[in-house]
Amino acid sequence: MEGVTISRIDKTWAPIPGTETNIDCDTLLLSVGLIPENELSQMAGVRLDPVTGGPFVDENRQTNVPGIFAGGNVVQVHDFVDNVSWEAELAGEAAARFAKGERMAEGQVSFKPGRNIRYVAPQKISGENDVTLYMRVREPEEKVQVKVGDVASKKFMGVKPSEMIKLDISSDKLKKIKEGTTEISVDCHGKE
Ligand SMILES: Cc1cc2nc3c(=O)[nH]c(=O)nc-3n(C[C@H](O)[C@H](O)[C@H](O)COP(=O)(O)OP(=O)(O)OC[C@H]3O[C@@H](n4cnc5c(N)ncnc54)[C@H](O)[C@@H]3O)c2cc1C
Repeated sequence: MEGVTISRIDKTWAPIPGTETNIDCDTLLLSVGLIPENELSQMAGVRLDPVTGGPFVDENRQTNVPGIFAGGNVVQVHDFVDNVSWEAELAGEAAARFAKGERMAEGQVSFKPGRNIRYVAPQKISGENDVTLYMRVREPEEKVQVKVGDVASKKFMGVKPSEMIKLDISSDKLKKIKEGTTEISVDCHGKE
């Protein structure tokens, strides 16, 4: 390697001619996005979210296939292993309950990623249990408020796609969801 050429890109990520700059170097380090390892999920017939690349799950990390629970980077690529451990405990506990014969309510209410929200996980909830929503935004923004319908909201000084955001919702707040609701929009409201 003798150098790299960088350039500005347009909205379709295509290089803009005339904006090229050459940088002499002998090493290039790439910082790239990861995707869930979904080979086993696909083999098991688990329905995958095209955005996360991992299974659609509910708050118990239950997939569409009875008895298959998912947690960690197979569901969504986490920033920190602490969150992976937490999600894995949730999935493991639910799997143990299933193995003992308990059948959990399936998620009936889906989250629809709205303004500047790329994805929400879990993608659906039963509404009966406390839930922590994990999300990533599409674009960096400062001083935002993330709203989950009229059920919950949280302010952030700044958000960016590389940093997962978390929002805890208690089962008490979830009682605000009107009966028959099947979809709740999650939006990141900016300053405008
Ligand atoms: C370069 C890098 C640096 C990181 N640094 C940090 C850090 O400093 N601090 C931090 O908190 N987090 C860090 N993370 C994030 C953290 O490592 C991950 O979030 C965490 O390891 C995910 O755990 P997991 O068990 O879900 O998945 P993994 O750790 O990826 O485990 C999945 C396992 O499943 C196995 N597997 C996959 N497919 C199959 C199959 N078909 N059959 C059998 N086995 C299979 C894989 O071999 C692997 O052992 C880093 C991640 C990366 C990539």
